[in-house]
Amino acid sequence: MRIVLLGPPGAGKGTQARRLAERYGVANISTGDILRDHVARGTDLGRLAKDFMDRGDYVPDDVMVRMVMERLQEPDARDGFILDGFPRIVPQSQALEDALADIGRPLSAVLKFKIDDEVAVKRLAGRWTCPACKRTYNMEFKPPRVDRVCDHDGTELLRRGDDDEVTVRRRLDVYRRETAPLEFFFWERGLLREVDAEGTEDEVTARTIEAIADLVDLSS
Ligand code: AMP
Repeated sequence: MRIVLLGPPGAGKGTQARRLAERYGVANISTGDILRDHVARGTDLGRLAKDFMDRGDYVPDDVMVRMVMERLQEPDARDGFILDGFPRIVPQSQALEDALADIGRPLSAVLKFKIDDEVAVKRLAGRWTCPACKRTYNMEFKPPRVDRVCDHDGTELLRRGDDDEVTVRRRLDVYRRETAPLEFFFWERGLLREVDAEGTEDEVTARTIEAIADLVDLSS
C-alpha cells in the first residue's frame, strides 16, 4: 500500500498517518518530521531548512526530492508507505510518480483531507507535540492527562515554532497556492479521494479507511 496524504496544515494528516501506518504495517514518512529532526541535530540540511520552515515557506525542491528518494529506499518502505507532507508541489509529484514507475510500484491512493481554515487555525494555535512519538495534543480539545507531558511516553510536550497564528495563516496561503493544484494532478490519474477531516480522530480514521477501500483491494 502506497498512499499520499494531502490537505492543509491542521487537517490531521500526521495523526492519521501514524494510525494508518500502524494498521497496515507500512512506513510512516513525514517530511516535516524528518526536517525537524535535521534542524534539532543541526545538520547541513537542518541549517538550510530552518529559515524556510520558520517562515512557513517550502524548503527548496531539489533538497526535498533527494531526501524523499533516499528515504523510500530504506527497507521499511519497501512494503509500502504513508507519505505525509510530500509531494507538496507539482514537480515533486512528478518526481515521485517517475521514481515509483521505475520500480513498478505506483501509488495506490491519494487522500485529500478537507477542513475549514478557521478550524485548522484553532487546532494548530492550541497544538502541543510530543517530540518523541509525534503524538499531538490540543490544550482546548484534547489536553494531555498531565500538563505538557505526553500521555503515551511521558516526554515533555513542545509547541512547534511555526504554529503561531500568523505563520499558520501563511502556511494555509502557501498550501492553497502551491499544493492545492496537486489535487487535479492526482484526480486526473484516478487516484484522488476526498475525506472530511472534521470530527473526532476515530471518525476521520473510519472515513479514511473507507476511502482507501474504494481504491485498494484490502482482501489480498
Ligand atoms: P509539516 O510538518 O508537513 O507541516 O511541514 C513543516 C514544514 O516543513 C513546511 O512548512 C515546509 O517548510 C517544510 N516541508 C515539509 N515537507 C516539505 C516538502 N515536501 N516540500 C517543501 N517543504 C516541505
